[in-house]
Amino acid sequence: MIRMTTKRKKVYSVFENSNKPINAENILDVLGDENINLSTIYRAIECFINNDLLLSFHFNNKTYYILDNEGNHYHYFICTNCLFMKKINCNMNPIIKKLEDENNFLITNHEMNVYGLCNSCNI
Ligand SMILES: [Zn+2]
Ligand SMILES: [Zn+2]
Repeated sequence: MIRMTTKRKKVYSVFENSNKPINAENILDVLGDENINLSTIYRAIECFINNDLLLSFHFNNKTYYILDNEGNHYHYFICTNCLFMKKINCNMNPIIKKLEDENNFLITNHEMNVYGLCNSCNI
């Protein structure tokens, strides 16, 4: 089980209260007066990732993170303008079956994010 120090709990709560992907600097901004520096945040993030609590992805040369601790398998739609994010159910099974058959390959895992413009940004 993960060891939750006070500082890690504070970092984790920022993820819990965010409805969009955030990076380490965003967390630093939110926790500005909490005596937490960037390296503490990065160590906390690394710990959360190792414990399968966070999903990371690269966007605009930065690494963003979202809480993904429900144990279920999802994909994400991410708006490239406002970083709006929405979980999408996985419909990959038929494609994966086909890939396995065609390539004689046992697929055990896959990742996919979908990028585009959300309803508010697509005007
Ligand atoms: Zn948007
Ligand atoms: Zn999937």
